[in-house]
Amino acid sequence: MTDRPVRVRFAPSPTGYLHIGGARSALFNYLFARHHGGQFILRIEDTDQKRFVADSVTNLMTNLRWLGLDWDEGPDVGGPYGPYTQTERAALYRQWAAWLVDQGHAYHCYCSAERLEAMRAEQTANKQPPGYDRHCRYLSADERAVIEAAGAPFVIRFATPLDGSTSVHDAVRGEMVFSNNTLDDVVLLKSDGLPTYHLAVVVDDHFMEISHILRADEWIASSPRHVLLYQAFGWEIPIMAHLPVILDPSGKGKMSKRKVRVGDKEYPVFVEELRSEGYLPEAVFNLLTNVGWSMGGDREVFTKEEAIAGFDLTGINPAPAALPYGKLEWLNGVYMRNLAPADFKQRLVPFLAAALHLDAAAVDANPALDILLVDVQERIKTLSEAAAMLDFALLDALPDYDSKLLVAKKLDAAASHQALTAARAALVSLGDLDDPEHVESTLRELAETLHLSAGQLFGILRIAISAKAVTPPLFTSMQALGIAAVLARVDIALSKLAALAGD
Ligand code: GLU
Repeated sequence: MTDRPVRVRFAPSPTGYLHIGGARSALFNYLFARHHGGQFILRIEDTDQKRFVADSVTNLMTNLRWLGLDWDEGPDVGGPYGPYTQTERAALYRQWAAWLVDQGHAYHCYCSAERLEAMRAEQTANKQPPGYDRHCRYLSADERAVIEAAGAPFVIRFATPLDGSTSVHDAVRGEMVFSNNTLDDVVLLKSDGLPTYHLAVVVDDHFMEISHILRADEWIASSPRHVLLYQAFGWEIPIMAHLPVILDPSGKGKMSKRKVRVGDKEYPVFVEELRSEGYLPEAVFNLLTNVGWSMGGDREVFTKEEAIAGFDLTGINPAPAALPYGKLEWLNGVYMRNLAPADFKQRLVPFLAAALHLDAAAVDANPALDILLVDVQERIKTLSEAAAMLDFALLDALPDYDSKLLVAKKLDAAASHQALTAARAALVSLGDLDDPEHVESTLRELAETLHLSAGQLFGILRIAISAKAVTPPLFTSMQALGIAAVLARVDIALSKLAALAGD
């Protein structure tokens, strides 16, 4: 542990939308910062302009916030170490690249793309490891002067020590030692004057006073290059911790960049898709917290506050971690049922409005929703499942449906018609449907009088009011619709049955 104040960063490149793997890195940084009362910084690493995806910064920010990962400093909120977008810091990288050249730790390389390509082809043909052959490192001062006088474009390369080794101390994995002769002279500054990742990340982590670097394991191979750069600059090296690889839920392969399969179900991997499929941020947060870190004591469900209180680097297991997507629906259901009804309703309304093409304010004001809300909250695992359960109650009319559905088991169309006619009369004499228990007992008695099972009679009614075999409880559903809508739908059902009986 360092005695520097805790400052950590999530540093995505805006080359795509927020992926579940990136979200896990952001989450661990967030938990670490909050646990230690430190700062969590968002930095946009956009120096690779070729791979830039225009709306990805907005997507990253929106979805990080949706997950509840608020940053203390970043491009939009500012902060004392800004700017927080790398292309706005280009002058700083140029200054420090030039400093490295002055100090003999880096050099100008004038090799053309054609020369580099020929070199690579030769290396491949000779089965040599790929890497820059250091041609320009050994140019004499006179040779350089001639080339520079001709105005040749150049990149700046790091003069990697030719022998010896570099140790990287990783807080999760321990000591990792790399032979310097496996590292080539990497480009630090490109000919367009923008830095590569290696230079920018070191300069920024230093000047933003980052105390700990928590990032995906794919950056392990870059870490000795960074350590060498810190040493060349004479700067304090932040504590590094490379997070465990995320495997697909089977635990067998690397996680896909597009979809995750559990049995015959496919899950999305972009946070935005999880959100639009109706997963709650609390559930996704909780799920990701369990990917490579453990609260201990087999605890899988815990709040954000508990995760913050319990999180530390010692709980991170370096072994590859399977993404437990098989638990996502269950976990989502747990969080769903924990929501206060008003909160649940507020989250649900936009899903219902979008799926049913209704105005959100109208859905919110519809009393049917309030009546059925708790029943739905108990039954669904994702917010997007609710529309198919509630459409009959929220839409003015039912879509046309197959008349045969109205024919009860062991009855024909004529007998079903008779039963529904009697039920209609009973409902009319009740006057309203505001007491579901009373409506139910009235119709149970009617079924007995008609020598029908309650299931037969209720089945016909359920189809008549909803066109569905499964709904929230029948009598609450009827209460939600109100007597007028119920009778109107029963009348449509009766004419369908009459037509069927007459065929
Ligand atoms: N910009 C890198 C990325 O997109 C960040 C790597 C790091 O955290 O050092 O993942």
